Amino acid sequence: MTHKLFNVEASLAFDRAHIWHPYTSITAPDPVYPVVSANGVMLKLADGRELIDGMSSWWSAIHGYNHPRLNEAAIEQLGKMAHVMFGGLTHPPAIELAERLLTICPPGLDKVFFCDSGSVGVEVALKMALQYWQAQGRTEKHRFIALSGGYHGDTFGAMSVCDPVTGMHHLFQSVLPKHHFAPRPACRFGDSWTGRDSESLEALLKEHAGTCAALILEPIMQGAGGMWFYHPDYLKAARKLCDKYQVLLIADEIATGFGRTGRLFACEHAGIAPDILCVGKALTGGYLSLAATLCTAQIAETISNGEAGCFMHGPTFMGNPLACSTASASIDLLLASDWQNRVSRIEAGLNKGLAPCRDLSGVADVRVLGAIGVIEMAAPVKVAAVQKLLMESGVWLRPFGRLIYMMPPYIINETQLEHLTSALHNTIKQLSD
Ligand SMILES: *Cc1c(COP(=O)(O)O)cnc(C)c1O
Repeated sequence: MTHKLFNVEASLAFDRAHIWHPYTSITAPDPVYPVVSANGVMLKLADGRELIDGMSSWWSAIHGYNHPRLNEAAIEQLGKMAHVMFGGLTHPPAIELAERLLTICPPGLDKVFFCDSGSVGVEVALKMALQYWQAQGRTEKHRFIALSGGYHGDTFGAMSVCDPVTGMHHLFQSVLPKHHFAPRPACRFGDSWTGRDSESLEALLKEHAGTCAALILEPIMQGAGGMWFYHPDYLKAARKLCDKYQVLLIADEIATGFGRTGRLFACEHAGIAPDILCVGKALTGGYLSLAATLCTAQIAETISNGEAGCFMHGPTFMGNPLACSTASASIDLLLASDWQNRVSRIEAGLNKGLAPCRDLSGVADVRVLGAIGVIEMAAPVKVAAVQKLLMESGVWLRPFGRLIYMMPPYIINETQLEHLTSALHNTIKQLSD
């Protein structure tokens, strides 16, 4: 057997000619860099360079790469079965993962729906909310309330509850359903709570609750819609208002789940539980695509007692055993680690390392929460140019819009974190020189 060597030039030319990459033009694409392996927090490029990963592969690889325990879980499951349909069949990996999720998630959630990706998990959550009201004859409750600055995924239902501007609603105007958007909560995490933000949410609910199935939000941290950390009292108020005005609360913890904000789930900052919860991204420790949508027994039973008699969704790869086994191993690994300590050490390191950026020209804001560090620039960042500079300093980050942010794997050590933050500081300094 001959092994074809990875011919970088030819492969990149093929890639450029035929493969879409996320959010970049096919005719004038931003550069892509071939990665040949990854280990711990390091990505190894085809040219031999090694980069410290500050992205956790879009916030999912919380334990770093090539982790022996996660590898072992996937390989062991592979020897039994990679996949089997979930209709009419079940298996230990799905059961064991559901048990773990129900043990660690906010209280009150009781039923687990496994699906393939975060966006699908959000679709499932929206459909659950719709079917819940439909089953009670409340078909007029078919709209949603979402927050400006929110991001919930790229499929149609998910897109319709993303921020209308950053989600480019106008492009899909004719097909996207019209929902209602509350202003982005202005009161920051760590500031003193004024209550003003919840007033605007209440005004919206007062007007539209009768036609709305649910409020969907990302608890505490709005991710891809602007990397914004808001006050836990907003979440507390949202919970109360949803009960008062009879709309369900959907918490999209796809980005925040599994410790990223310093709590296992961001809802814990406010001591609240949603009616429906979405998890994804870090669920499998970044190994495989998997998401889950959890709901209360009451919602699940109401749906099942309705006209359809069941919940109308069932993906081909539902409950994929490989993904479920890896997810259980990832959760076990997380819970057995001193993750809280690690995340707070990362928080301290980010605070210390990014603080000097405040004094650089072009920087509008610096904010840190848990293992998330954000530099907001005054003007949009030239991604390719900034990335090139960062890579020359040995780090991997992917800025978007006006934001350069980092969400490193929890296993990052102090030296690597310092390297990451000082590389970013130097890069911004070079940009403003
Ligand atoms: C990433 C993300 C999604 C979408 O997940 P995909 O797996 O990319 O489909 C949804 N909601 C939030 C909050 C996310 O961060």
